Amino acid sequence: MGSDDNPFENLQEQIDDAASYLPSDVNDDVLTRLKNPERVLEANLTVDMDDGSLETFRAYRSQFNGDRGPYKGGIRYHPGVTRDEVKALSGWMVYKCAVVDIPFGGGKGGIVIDPDDYSADELERITRSFAKELRPLIGEDRDVPAPDVNTGQREMNWIKNTYETLENKTEPGVITGKALENGGSKGRVEATGRSTVIAAREAFNYLGEDISDATVAVQGYGNAGWITAKLADELGATVVAVSDSSGGLYDADGFDPKAVKEFKNETGSVSGYGDAESLTNEELLTLDVDLLVPAALENAIDADLAQDVKADVISEAANGPLTPDADDVLAERDVTVIPDILANAGGVTVSYFEWVQNRQRFYWSEERVNEELEEIIVDSFDDLVDAKEELDLPSFRVAAYVVAIQRVVDAYTGSGNWP
Ligand code: NAD
Repeated sequence: MGSDDNPFENLQEQIDDAASYLPSDVNDDVLTRLKNPERVLEANLTVDMDDGSLETFRAYRSQFNGDRGPYKGGIRYHPGVTRDEVKALSGWMVYKCAVVDIPFGGGKGGIVIDPDDYSADELERITRSFAKELRPLIGEDRDVPAPDVNTGQREMNWIKNTYETLENKTEPGVITGKALENGGSKGRVEATGRSTVIAAREAFNYLGEDISDATVAVQGYGNAGWITAKLADELGATVVAVSDSSGGLYDADGFDPKAVKEFKNETGSVSGYGDAESLTNEELLTLDVDLLVPAALENAIDADLAQDVKADVISEAANGPLTPDADDVLAERDVTVIPDILANAGGVTVSYFEWVQNRQRFYWSEERVNEELEEIIVDSFDDLVDAKEELDLPSFRVAAYVVAIQRVVDAYTGSGNWP
């Protein structure tokens, strides 16, 4: 059993659980392969600081599995980055790419750093130093990094520029999440919230209901949360509760998500918006709503809180918002949970579109990006329904892992083992 706080053990436990439901047995050594990274780079970046001193930062890149295509996954800047966390996150990327059937494996990277403590010039030198260490490992056909916590377009542009300068070539597809003028894709910023809402809409249809009749609570009002609120509102749902780290708001008549976002942009938080009733995050998570969207942090709902959740459907915009024990409680209580590896896969799917456009040097309209994303998320949801019904699986999460693991196993066994 994994302890709830070691993400790598949690990942391994999820794979063992799902593998036990696969229609045919998986060879033990193949299972070991599915549960462990192919390789992990551990680097020390010694960088000049603005005051003339030197400082050394620990950095990692885990390439978990490349059986379905180049490794793919973000780079995180956070003081809590560990080797095990990077390994776990890279594994989840394997299964996220497989569940939406895009031709990537999984990777993840990170630097142990609190970026708030460093100037923009220092962060540029640290990022370029990491890019130099990554250079032999990455490339549009090898490993394609992306943004994650505390990294964004700026860092992606620096990595692309460092790589292209050292390689003496143009290769925008070496990294995704770039600014539009540096080869980014239209629709990327909205993609995670968009897939969260499409997956929720499909879940309501599956349950014989309509998302336009649903009341919605959204925890977290950053990129994923606010776009989810906006798109749910556009589908006719009523967003009755939102929150951020400052606390939550409730209005039974529903919020105008854009107005709340403008208020947050001006004041830095959602708290104090209009004359809405305030509520704690715990109250938000246990509200009697039809759809609950955790879009903030990992482990937001534990087993105790899960007993009090009243939503019918949860669509996981955040990565890992339910502890494994909470997941068991919600499955027993028949709450429909759309797992993160499908619900928030819009982000990596549009990253895939960015990579395709970079390779073709041919850029799509936002309308085309959204149409292609819609098709992928709807088809993937249908694949989970088929697997859940045919194999009588206990949850959509187990179905997602079963579908994804089977795709990785098929790719691996189909290519043969060499040398
Ligand atoms: P973000 O930093 O833009 O927003 C996070 C939000 O959560 C902020 O509004 C913050 O105030 C809020 N928050 C923090 N602690 C909170 C708490 N205790 N209670 C309530 N709210 C709290 O981040 P994001 O990009 O929106 O990512 C959110 C989640 O979605 C993360 O788990 C991330 O891994 C996942 N995700 C994001 C993307 C993407 O494309 N942005 C893709 C896949 C997964």
